[in-house]
Amino acid sequence: MLADTLSETLQHLENAAKDAHRPPPALLAVSKLQPASAVAELARAGQRAFGENYVQEAQAKIGELGGMDLEWHLIGHLQSNKADLAARLFDWVQTVDRHKLIGALSRNRPADRPPLSVLIQVNIDDEASKHGCRPEEIDALADAIAEAPNLRLRGLMAIPAPHEDAALRAAAFTRMQTLQQALATRHAGVDTLSMGMSGDFAQAIAHGATMVRIGTALFGARPAP
Ligand SMILES: *Cc1c(COP(=O)(O)O)cnc(C)c1O
Repeated sequence: MLADTLSETLQHLENAAKDAHRPPPALLAVSKLQPASAVAELARAGQRAFGENYVQEAQAKIGELGGMDLEWHLIGHLQSNKADLAARLFDWVQTVDRHKLIGALSRNRPADRPPLSVLIQVNIDDEASKHGCRPEEIDALADAIAEAPNLRLRGLMAIPAPHEDAALRAAAFTRMQTLQQALATRHAGVDTLSMGMSGDFAQAIAHGATMVRIGTALFGARPAP
């Protein structure tokens, strides 16, 4: 059943990309609060990349699904005291938004793993309730990540405010696209702009998203925590 939803979702992404004259984005399946069995079902249908918000929940799930060759992304806020665990568990951390995390992630990345792929989270609508750095802080964070031996800078991530007004949403996506292009001129390995969720992925794709993070549209409503 999840296999059907997966193929429909991939078709929606492809259509949105075609409309925008862009390559289809990578799909990150957001599995927070979903059981490991649902992840396994989607994995058997061909999905490889999964996003988790909570380090400890992810640790249990990754342990349970250790036999499957999956790619795990942290997309929730990372507390500094969990950075060592995150550096060992994940393949990507999308929520780097302050200098303190950079050293901690790089130092704790196991030597037998490839460098940890990292995105800088930007608080693009300057919301008090949201994590993420200010746009002016991107360059200094990016330079520090690029110099960290066990990290690989891949790009930017944002969770724009869920404005009712499509024009306001578009403005935030456009600002992210501009920031991403500027970052890519300064750092050669930058290839990822992570934005767009179940409700707004088509618009995000039209504004240059290379990775969309989709939970509800794939798994259905999340169980209560
Ligand atoms: C939960 C979550 C998503 C997925 O949201 P849906 O609306 O369920 O698709 C994407 N990104 C982040 C950062 C999330 O926390």
